[in-house]
Amino acid sequence: MNEALLQFIWQYSLYHSQSLTTTDGESVTVIHPGQRNTHAGPDFESAKVKIGNTLLVGNVELHVRTSEWLQHKHDSDEAYRHLILHVVFQQDVYLENQSFATLILSPHIPESVIRQYATLQQTTHHIPCSSQLQKVPVILRESWLNRLLAERWEMKLEEWKDILKQTAGDWQNLLYWRLAANFGFKTNAMPFLLLAKSIPVNILAKHKDQLFQLESILFGQAGFLENDFSEEYPQKLKAEYYFLKKKFNLQPIQGHLWKFMRMRPPNFPTIRIAQFAALVQKSLHLFSKIIEMSCVEEIIPLLQATAGSYWDNHYHFEDIQSRSFPKAIGDHSIHNIIINTIAPIQFLYAHSTGNLALQEQALQLLTLLPPEKNRIISEWSTHHWEASHAAHSQAMLQLFNQYCSSKRCLECSVGLAVIKKNND
Ligand code: SF4
Repeated sequence: MNEALLQFIWQYSLYHSQSLTTTDGESVTVIHPGQRNTHAGPDFESAKVKIGNTLLVGNVELHVRTSEWLQHKHDSDEAYRHLILHVVFQQDVYLENQSFATLILSPHIPESVIRQYATLQQTTHHIPCSSQLQKVPVILRESWLNRLLAERWEMKLEEWKDILKQTAGDWQNLLYWRLAANFGFKTNAMPFLLLAKSIPVNILAKHKDQLFQLESILFGQAGFLENDFSEEYPQKLKAEYYFLKKKFNLQPIQGHLWKFMRMRPPNFPTIRIAQFAALVQKSLHLFSKIIEMSCVEEIIPLLQATAGSYWDNHYHFEDIQSRSFPKAIGDHSIHNIIINTIAPIQFLYAHSTGNLALQEQALQLLTLLPPEKNRIISEWSTHHWEASHAAHSQAMLQLFNQYCSSKRCLECSVGLAVIKKNND
């Protein structure tokens, strides 16, 4: 037993409620367990409990052992003065001269609840409740996944709000930075973001019609134009970059930050930067266009762009390949950008402007895209939780990363269903 489990049992009334009595022998009827208090002070507030013939409304504190009341120094803490009930798993000391009643819950807790919790905590499966997932009602699964998606975005948004402060509330700039980070995917997200931050968006705007200049600024700032080149194109890019660097007083990032290892050549940062330059050229002011779009078919064309022709037969500067083909941003990458940048920015913007309809629309956008494919989504599918769309896969990632992997089953709707079911 631990305090979190005891609180869970109390909150969801997972005990036999008949014949509850205080340590003084008075009957106890729990009408409402109260609201969980996650801040300092008693564990539950506004609980409604009948002790003997007296109806009491107030705070409830829970401990595994009675002595923790003294250990935690609650006896001298004002916040605990209006306690109506002290619920403990075991009584190891008798607390004298207290104004509240004490209820020992252990005899009333079904063994199955503790056993089921222990099973979830002790298993070595990646998803501790995997053997029970198939029995979880669809309606419960759907509503929990919806909440998880909103939670995932709220976490992301907290992070992004700081970025928005750095851009002085400029949404266009936020989109530019987030798009850049997204272009780097997991491996090169950080250097891509540094790259975007090193080039004020107004400098790109000045050259938005000329792909050559956009490439020279982006590749130069990325640290890829420092070598001596034999090909004419990178030589020209380099010359242009040094001119623009001086003109705008630009400071490049360090080239060694980019990673190429274990990466498919089409995902090399050089190709991504070239595609990013093409996207900037096509539409630097994406924000005003995409912010209210609810239709994937309208968004996709805005994100379609192809790297300049030099890259048709290169993956890096001066590595001529025999096979030549245009390096367009693929469907998978576009979906990834909508999932990880466009829809969350729509959601954040809607949130900050109080536009609930747009918030819902941003969430709905993910239901129109195919689910992501990765190790975690495959794991869910092995246990018959199939992601039908990207809203599902994003929620499943959140569930796995934030709950299952740290065994936060007591905070999970599935955990409640699993423990409750075995108690029914
Ligand atoms: S956190 Fe929820 S879904 Fe994950 S293992 Fe625990 S009960 Fe299952």
